Amino acid sequence: MDDIKEVKTVAVIGAGLVGSLAALAFAKRGYQVTVFEQRGDPRLAKNKNLRSINLAVSDRGVNALRNVDFKLCDSILQHVIPMKGRMIHHVEGELESQRYDLDNQCINSIDRGYLNDLLLNELDNHELIKVEFGRKLENLNLSGQPTLTFANLDIKSFDIVIGADGVFSAVRHLLQKYIRMDFTQEYIDSTYLELRIPPGEDGDFQIDANHLHIWPRHKFMLIALPNLDGSFTSTLFAPWDVMDTLHSDEKILEFFNENFPDAVDLITEKELLYAFHMHPRGKLLSVTCNKYNHTGKCLIIGDASHGMVPFYGQGMNCGFEDVDVLMALLDKHEDDVEKAFNEYTETRHKDLVAIVDLAKENYKEMRHKVTSKLFVLRKRVDFILTYYLREKWIPLYTMVSFRSDIPYSEAVARVEFQNKILLGIEGLIVGTGVFIGVKFLKWLGRKF
Ligand code: FAD
Repeated sequence: MDDIKEVKTVAVIGAGLVGSLAALAFAKRGYQVTVFEQRGDPRLAKNKNLRSINLAVSDRGVNALRNVDFKLCDSILQHVIPMKGRMIHHVEGELESQRYDLDNQCINSIDRGYLNDLLLNELDNHELIKVEFGRKLENLNLSGQPTLTFANLDIKSFDIVIGADGVFSAVRHLLQKYIRMDFTQEYIDSTYLELRIPPGEDGDFQIDANHLHIWPRHKFMLIALPNLDGSFTSTLFAPWDVMDTLHSDEKILEFFNENFPDAVDLITEKELLYAFHMHPRGKLLSVTCNKYNHTGKCLIIGDASHGMVPFYGQGMNCGFEDVDVLMALLDKHEDDVEKAFNEYTETRHKDLVAIVDLAKENYKEMRHKVTSKLFVLRKRVDFILTYYLREKWIPLYTMVSFRSDIPYSEAVARVEFQNKILLGIEGLIVGTGVFIGVKFLKWLGRKF
């Protein structure tokens, strides 16, 4: 749609993953876009940071990318490593593969830096997009035409402001002067630290590349996602008080040798200690808000509007889906931005709250439940029911990660119903067992 009546100007705040995709999507519709990013250009080596080196892109993210630019999406997918399930590493060293989906659908590990650089290159190549690095937004005036003030006191006006400035969003904060926004922010009592499993001596992966590896230890866990160079990015998630006890080399090695002995062999003691001394500890928090817009002037998307803990691998995927939902609404309302933004707030909220909650719940599943025999049995029953009932019975993980046609809130509603039926089946099995047991005891009583 290049034929919007007058060319509207859009300021996107934040050149992260979501801001970059939003900029591309608006430019493809014919809007004139300027992206403002507080940091320097991440493509320059000196601006690279250490955190979260890879992430998992799944159906919602892929679908949104494809809808913005089919070719770009294709070239991204050539640089991913598909992961078909979780590989559980038990303390005794036993490995257990738990696939994600009956039809072997995969989530995809991708290098965050590569993805960000690729998106930024696309922005550079688009004639309607300008990117300004080193530009920190400090103030926003939405009384008349939206006006932005930057840290260097530069002031600029635009028709539309998109806040994609991450979980500590300045736009979200400034927007609250103009609308009654409900807002929650909740830290979980865990932190994370990134480690690295290098390639083996032959340059190949030391453990299976097509799994997301998990060392679940109930209160804490270690995970690892593969990189194209044969390495894995590994992350330790643990409560702050556990992490605080790891204050000397001795304690760190003792903790790892006790809980993750096979991982120590893979990472090596030297690299483990290096990471503990050099890498930052990350905070983990959830953010929800409502509303998301002020008329047709300003809207927040991505982490700025729904920070979530990383345990469902959906933060970026959901942010990309925000862009997709927004573009569909602009289509529907023929680029009447105010109508599109208002409907976005009305319809998107329930889905964002649903995934923020699911992400929190999934921490318990990853660090604890996956080790339970009952959990594994339930997954099997889930798969059997899916096999026979197909569309009528879809496991939660499949709906969230592989079915962008099912909104998050619908996935939650469907799984609540399915869980009631599963509980009924369990009750029936237990009841039948008790009935047969009682009959048997009575028969035994008559015999003797
Ligand atoms: P950000 O990536 O935070 O980008 C915001 C940008 O705005 C930044 O570049 C920032 O510098 C800029 N900015 C901030 N303030 C200003 C300002 N005042 N002025 C100008 N610019 C500003 N998601 C997944 O989908 N799959 C995963 O597997 C996954 N794994 C994760 C693992 C970890 C350990 C973590 C922490 C997160 C993970 N996520 C994952 C979540 C994902 O990283 C985020 O959801 C995603 O990066 C959000 O993108 P964003 O563009 O909204 O925000």
